[in-house]
Amino acid sequence: MLNLVSAVFGAIVGSFLNVCIHRVPRGESIVAPGSHCPHCKSPIKFYDNIPLISYLLLRGRCRNCRGTISIQYPFVEGVTALSSFLLFLRFGLSWSYFFYFAFVASLIVITVIDLFHQIIPDVISLPGIGVGLLASLIVPDLPFLNSLIGMLLGGGSLFVVATLYQWLFKREGMGGGDVKLLAMIGAFLGWKAVILTILLSSLIGSITGIIVMVAKGKDFKYAIPFGPFLSLGAVISLFYGEKIITWYLYLNQ
Ligand SMILES: [Zn+2]
Repeated sequence: MLNLVSAVFGAIVGSFLNVCIHRVPRGESIVAPGSHCPHCKSPIKFYDNIPLISYLLLRGRCRNCRGTISIQYPFVEGVTALSSFLLFLRFGLSWSYFFYFAFVASLIVITVIDLFHQIIPDVISLPGIGVGLLASLIVPDLPFLNSLIGMLLGGGSLFVVATLYQWLFKREGMGGGDVKLLAMIGAFLGWKAVILTILLSSLIGSITGIIVMVAKGKDFKYAIPFGPFLSLGAVISLFYGEKIITWYLYLNQ
């Protein structure tokens, strides 16, 4: 029963994340005014604003003007609901659940904004670093020192890579946004998981990059935002990090 509640809670949070995704890059307030249709600007009634269900009932169209509602809305709500559900199964009703759910929710917002706008907003990553460090004082799964080293290692390593890249190729390969995002990931997950995140995101990012280059015939200058890969690597590290590290050490005995 509580598992179901955690999924519903996740869907409601996902609905709020959609508001953040739409408004943060535009510098708008995330609390006021209320939700409105992007086509006809008419306010969305509370009964048309039920996560996932309203989209299905309205068949993805505004009740007033019949303009299409982006698939992004139910998608973000569904992914957030699933994340909440899986984290609740793992951690139960605990500080750890809220800590990691806040983390994954921030990653969802960052991923969608980075995909659409090629930016990672400081207003999410910088407070995220602070929240990760402070919360490590109360979350039993993550000692403060581990969080601090993770933050420095994550931000520091990517800063070195970005600086070297710029020095070698005389153009920006990786933005400062990625550096701050990886510092935030380190603060939330600790130093072991941040190393795993770098390895996984580089691997998945390179494979995707090669596929995109072959499919679209673009060269290396075609910049793919790296934030979504860092986020994906972080989520895999969060759920399977221990297993992957144990398996790797076992192989190298
Ligand atoms: Zn409308």
